[in-house]
Amino acid sequence: MAFLKPDAVTEEYGLRIAEKPITAQSGVRYYSNRRLNTPDHRPAYITVHNTDRIRTAAGTTMAEQYARATYNNNMGDVVVHYYIDGEDCWHILADDTVGWHAADGVNGPGNTKSVAIEIIMDGSGDAADKAAEDRGALLAAILLHRYGLGMDRLKTHRDWYPKKYCPAYLLGHWQAFADRVKAHLAALEAADGAKENAAPEQTDAGGRTFYRVQVGFYGVKANAEAMKNRLKQAGFSAIIKEEKV
Ligand SMILES: [Zn+2]
Repeated sequence: MAFLKPDAVTEEYGLRIAEKPITAQSGVRYYSNRRLNTPDHRPAYITVHNTDRIRTAAGTTMAEQYARATYNNNMGDVVVHYYIDGEDCWHILADDTVGWHAADGVNGPGNTKSVAIEIIMDGSGDAADKAAEDRGALLAAILLHRYGLGMDRLKTHRDWYPKKYCPAYLLGHWQAFADRVKAHLAALEAADGAKENAAPEQTDAGGRTFYRVQVGFYGVKANAEAMKNRLKQAGFSAIIKEEKV
């Protein structure tokens, strides 16, 4: 099969995602066609897995090759929602659909209530390995944020099936990984706060409208400084302006 072509490419918070959702017509043997067993079929958990790096054909990526293998029924009975490596990310199962990845059975919460991310790593700590880990953390944060889930909803494959040592390259430093997800999540929330407070500001003589973004309004200068530092850590520049009211 030729390389997969995405139906769409989305970009959220700097993460490009190739969208290629499996449907009942795709011919994927283990596609369940079942919606998540949660209110409104919204994901209740994000499950993190690791799968090994693979040699790829020229002109493609490991994430695409895993996605394509799923379409070709070469992944055994495994169906996950996302494959992500150091440079690429494929979304092959709609977030509201049951996958087959958690080893907790047809009715287990891992399979029926969670979205699965396979982070493609080898634990070597080389640049590609680190990039995959950080991008995986960003993707986990994006999904937690999208569905309004807290850090307690970030799960490992092992949480659902203790005999399975997965994600094998992250369990040894899981807290550090979770902290990275948490930092991304805080940055996404800060970015959202900034967006919500954007309002039309004024029109100049040329009729152009300008917008100023405000993220907070404080009676105590130290609190304003604290928010400024949070924004800086999240990669935004910020200024404090005094105002008498
Ligand atoms: Zn796993």
